[in-house]
Amino acid sequence: MAGRAVKAGHAVGAGCGGGRSGRLPLPKVMTVAEVHARFGTEEACREHLRKLRWGEKLERFVCLGRRPNGKPCGHTKGGWLAKRGLIECGECHHQTSVTAGTIFHRLRSPLWKWFWAM
Ligand SMILES: [Zn+2]
Repeated sequence: MAGRAVKAGHAVGAGCGGGRSGRLPLPKVMTVAEVHARFGTEEACREHLRKLRWGEKLERFVCLGRRPNGKPCGHTKGGWLAKRGLIECGECHHQTSVTAGTIFHRLRSPLWKWFWAM
């Protein structure tokens, strides 16, 4: 029985749904003035994300923190700390970054840069 040669026909990247291998598109380079014209500040970007994620009045917020007894908090009232881009739970004071669990969390560059790629 001759050992079958492994078929090399499956091209890398082909047939796996776009095959981008996790690469993100590079942001377009903008001048500071242009960025400010659109989003104002980093804070404004966070505000934008915050609305996308938790809604205008934080109505979709659910705390992911844990109580001292180990149970999930699940509280739905939190305070938005715009300067830091996070929500603090009104119950357990767990803080959730608006970028936690999103692609933005893994990016080290300022948020506004990435808005141009969206
Ligand atoms: Zn909580």
